[in-house]
Amino acid sequence: MTVHTTLPSVRDEALAILKRLEVPDSAFADKGLVARSPITGEVVATVRETSAEEAKAAIGRAAEAFKAWRRVPAPKRGEFVRLLGEGLRAAKDDLGRLVTLEAGKITSEGLGEVQEMIDICDFAVGLSRQLYGLTVATERADHRMMETWHPLGVCGVISAFNFPVAVWSWNAALAFVCGDPVVWKPSEKTPLTALATQAIVERAARRYGEAGLGPVPAGLSEVIVGGREIGEVLVDDPRVPVVSATGSTAMGRKVGPKLAARFARAILELGGNNAAIVAPSADLDLALRGIAFAAMGTAGQRCTTLRRLFVHESVYDRLVPRLARVYGNVTIGDPRAKGTLVGPLIDAHAFESMEKALDEAKAAGGKVHGGGRVAGLGGEGAYYVRPALVEMPGQTGPMLHETFAPILYVVRYRDFDEAVALHNAVGAGLSSSIFTLDMREAERFVSVEGSDCGIANVNIGPSGAEIGGAFGGEKETGGGREAGSDAWKAYMRRATNTLNYGTALPLAQGVTFDV
Ligand code: NAD
Repeated sequence: MTVHTTLPSVRDEALAILKRLEVPDSAFADKGLVARSPITGEVVATVRETSAEEAKAAIGRAAEAFKAWRRVPAPKRGEFVRLLGEGLRAAKDDLGRLVTLEAGKITSEGLGEVQEMIDICDFAVGLSRQLYGLTVATERADHRMMETWHPLGVCGVISAFNFPVAVWSWNAALAFVCGDPVVWKPSEKTPLTALATQAIVERAARRYGEAGLGPVPAGLSEVIVGGREIGEVLVDDPRVPVVSATGSTAMGRKVGPKLAARFARAILELGGNNAAIVAPSADLDLALRGIAFAAMGTAGQRCTTLRRLFVHESVYDRLVPRLARVYGNVTIGDPRAKGTLVGPLIDAHAFESMEKALDEAKAAGGKVHGGGRVAGLGGEGAYYVRPALVEMPGQTGPMLHETFAPILYVVRYRDFDEAVALHNAVGAGLSSSIFTLDMREAERFVSVEGSDCGIANVNIGPSGAEIGGAFGGEKETGGGREAGSDAWKAYMRRATNTLNYGTALPLAQGVTFDV
């Protein structure tokens, strides 16, 4: 294991970026939400919190914006998103760096997060000319039956710390082209990247106006800053017909029923407990690399992080000791430093959860490689840990739940059906993968009797989705889909229209009603 010493001046660097990205001084205050960097644990800034009244006013502005934005032709709305994508391209280095400073991601992952925002903008621009409905054959002569998709209304977005800006863009880029304003409640752990993103949105809106495309209505994009109480304001407001909420399953259990009670749409993107199967025929070199990134990347703080590994008994002894060596050699340290692969955990709570899970794993008979805090890195308030590989006697204890930290549990299996059954025997259903060169196994894994997850991969790990495919999971992951395929339909309402261009009035199902 190589340990880098931290580079200086996280705060100075972050403040300089916020200034360059034109985040207004009014976003900050003497008292408010304290934004820290997990790199050193230091306070970077204090952000003005949104009061409940202000949040309601923001929702009101968005509801007003909806009246104008829904009438703008979709391809013109797409032009706004195109300008937003251009703004993100121009700001990629700064915003990517700010993601690193605020969320602790290594440099390439910080930049990758912004690239994902750019990609969804590109996707949404194309989509703005593809918001189509079906025409359906009707049983009535001289009639036409069709469906029309209309903008839905204000879209609430609640996001988690670990993808502090990309998750907003998955929702917002689609919502904007679909004709919906967005009110965003970012994670209280990552307000700075949200403010920076909002500044980029505002610049795109100005450019849209300067290009003579008409004004972007005030309130099209709002950010409300604070903890769960402010999220609750968004969830409870009847002017918000759709809320996309990304975070823990515990959060979804609170938010989901509230939205259901007022018949609002919920796009829930919740926790994962993702697994991979390594079959007898697997290319072990490739599997090793895939597993290492999926399990240790982002310091285990991705919803799609690989947390459970089922290895066939015939390859276990060839794979697991090699994996343990990779774990022992991984470079942990300041995420800005060249060569670092594992940055810090987000905070003390994350570290405590990891310690607790490892204690439970040991109590359940697990053999732990790695784990523990790396002393001397980043200062008292920073939590750098050695990723842990835990050989378990069976799938039990902490293995059944998501711990948002770099812990990979490994279990031996004998036959494919057993492995799939173990794979599916947890509450979450987000992402999954199999490493195999056996075509029958690969096909069965992605078939109806295989993985029960929203994402099922072959010969790549479960982590690292790309724009274009619908993203989301089943069971306790919440069932929402974002970012690709026909996910746009969640942001629109469908009307079925039947038009009579004849002179008779035939009724469906042969019903007669002669007056
Ligand atoms: P979290 O649940 O603590 O918080 C997520 C967001 O929900 C925050 O903005 C928070 O303020 C808000 N929130 C919490 N309780 C709320 C309530 N009752 N009403 C309204 N808002 C509320 O999650 P976190 O620690 O920031 O992120 C880690 C979790 O997110 C992990 O479980 C991870 O798997 C999950 N996650 C899922 C996806 C996905 O797409 N499925 C993506 C990223 C993260």
